[in-house]
Amino acid sequence: MTKNQYHPETLSVRAGSEMTAYGENSEALFLNSSFRFNSAAQAAARFGGTEPGNIYSRFTNPTVTMFQNKLAALEGAEQCVATSTGMSAILACVMALCNAGDHIVASRSIFGTSVQLFSNILKRWGLEVTYVSLTNPAEWQAAITPKTKLFFAETPSNPLTEVCDIRALADIAHKAGAHLVVDNCFCTPAIQRPLELGADIIIHSATKYIDGQGRCLGGAVLGSKALMEPVYGFLRTAGVTMSAFNAWVFLKGLETLHVRMEAHAKRALELATWLEAQPQVARVYYPGLASHPQHVLAMKQQLSGGGIVSFEVKAKAGQTQQEAAWALIDATKLISITANLGDAKSTITHPATTTHSRITAEARTEAGITDGLVRIAVGLEHVEDLKADLAILG
Ligand SMILES: *Cc1c(COP(=O)(O)O)cnc(C)c1O
Repeated sequence: MTKNQYHPETLSVRAGSEMTAYGENSEALFLNSSFRFNSAAQAAARFGGTEPGNIYSRFTNPTVTMFQNKLAALEGAEQCVATSTGMSAILACVMALCNAGDHIVASRSIFGTSVQLFSNILKRWGLEVTYVSLTNPAEWQAAITPKTKLFFAETPSNPLTEVCDIRALADIAHKAGAHLVVDNCFCTPAIQRPLELGADIIIHSATKYIDGQGRCLGGAVLGSKALMEPVYGFLRTAGVTMSAFNAWVFLKGLETLHVRMEAHAKRALELATWLEAQPQVARVYYPGLASHPQHVLAMKQQLSGGGIVSFEVKAKAGQTQQEAAWALIDATKLISITANLGDAKSTITHPATTTHSRITAEARTEAGITDGLVRIAVGLEHVEDLKADLAILG
């Protein structure tokens, strides 16, 4: 049996691991900045690329390499480039694959900081971005210009869990000579493998489910060797490097990825189903529910609905939508009030006044992010305790 024939769960535990001469069974943490050479000639050969091996931890570190190889095996990618954060993964991807004057078509419902990066920072360097509806392929087609290099999508989206047809967007991108980038942060390869559906590049914020316990920041870009060569070149020079310590934490996180994602999704589906039946809930957004507009597509692309559930709280008489949402959040005793997700601890967020507060009220309304919307990243607690924590909805 070759490595590629192992089941995904086995790859999570086993892929990428290498042992030093000491024979350790758990991966070693190489917390050193540089590597020694036996001779001047060997140093020259390493730097010249004629001899493989480690040089300096900005761009070669054995612990980071093990993490990259494990995640690449899970996504079915030829190469993975690990980065310091999810945002630096997006930065490295765009800086490596676009030039001034190039154009990106991006979903309107991508991570807020990704919008800030494209529209406030990279725009100053001559990058043009057109935002379109995640779920309407015709808009992506219509936005293409002769300068379009990348399509950028996140599916399911945050916080409304909209799902795009990865295959359809990949086909449109490829006909235009562009590449489809999918931010696979919400699903992880345990639930969705975008490269198999035709995407060219995957972005991860390892900070979320890859860590799984809210400890470290990290990111990754994955794709073919040809596409990753300039991404790695950017990282080597610009230094948006993943720390070895964080890579070591993520290696441990990936070992339990499949069991965790199954547990998150099981609880999320149960909670979403319960929320739909609560009198104080106007609407629930979860791809695993039959009421979700892209439920059928989601169940074709994904193994489950994932761990993120959003819903609209109904305002009581004399209450604004925001007051109703805040009252629910402030009534929780167990669930953490924080914007992070992918943690064993369930988290609760009011997107309109936190993660999406930097966009205008009109843009929020257009995107469907109302003042009554609440997002829960369902953790690993018992679901009955989560329901009890949300009892004021009943
Ligand atoms: C958190 C997040 C990012 C950014 O990752 P960081 O590690 O915080 O830099 C990018 N995309 C999505 C979908 C995210 O949730």
